[in-house]
Amino acid sequence: MAESNGWVPAGIDVSVPSPARVYDYFLGGAHNFAVDRALAEQIAAMTPNIGETMRSNRVFLRRAVRYLAAQGVRQFLDIGSGIPTAGNVHEIALDAAPGARVVYVDIDPVAVEHSRAILDGVPGTGVILADMRDVDRVLAEAEKLGLDLTQPVAVLLAGVLHFVPDSDDPRGLVAALGAAVPPGSFLLISHATADGQPPEVVQAQRLSGRTGSEIVLRTAAEITSYFAGFDLVEPGLVVIPRWRPDPQDPVDEHPERVGAYAGVGRKG
Ligand code: SAM
Repeated sequence: MAESNGWVPAGIDVSVPSPARVYDYFLGGAHNFAVDRALAEQIAAMTPNIGETMRSNRVFLRRAVRYLAAQGVRQFLDIGSGIPTAGNVHEIALDAAPGARVVYVDIDPVAVEHSRAILDGVPGTGVILADMRDVDRVLAEAEKLGLDLTQPVAVLLAGVLHFVPDSDDPRGLVAALGAAVPPGSFLLISHATADGQPPEVVQAQRLSGRTGSEIVLRTAAEITSYFAGFDLVEPGLVVIPRWRPDPQDPVDEHPERVGAYAGVGRKG
């Protein structure tokens, strides 16, 4: 793939891998650089099922958005949204609930630039270049883009919290987001874990930290604690493929090998 075919925003350092682009490569996307592919290959060589975990996460996100739309949610705040690939949150949400509003947030300018291009002219959608650790700014910008924080919102934190180190208080950040949305809102989290994983998988997941953002593997108990103030809906926090599997989705032959948990909670 050409490295200068017009989609690269100015000022991007192509010598440092980015989580969004490594993830894009694993999903079969085209928005990644040699440095991202090299790191992805290194990770994949150590543990072949890491790509499966990432694809499983993406499929989970799609079925969870369908679930949330079916619960009547009409506003989605997708934080750490990444590079849009087929079956984006807004496509699923708008398909299931015409008139839905979807705001994407990502720290990566490449991801944001692509989201802007894809969302150009799509009513009800918007994108913010921001660090989720600045919750006040994320919320203020989301409101400017039309999110009504007096009405239920689904806050989506898919595959992003493990990039937030403990020193940045991920629990506090999630609590601040949860406090900003009214009862009837939902919180979605998917998060990498070392629980039940062999050492080489753990090592490979830690390698993702070489993208410049530390990756932190957390336990089920830690991740569950982020849902304080929300009631986990069935089946609770489970390895990703076990969250309300849909017969239409690709089958994960070995759900236990997926090194990440997923859960959705409702604010009562
Ligand atoms: N949410 C998408 C999904 O689940 O398919 C993409 C997940 S991707 C693994 C993680 C994304 O989180 C990347 O696009 C990365 O740029 C973004 N990210 C990492 N740290 C972030 C932060 N502090 N604030 C906002 N986004 C962040």
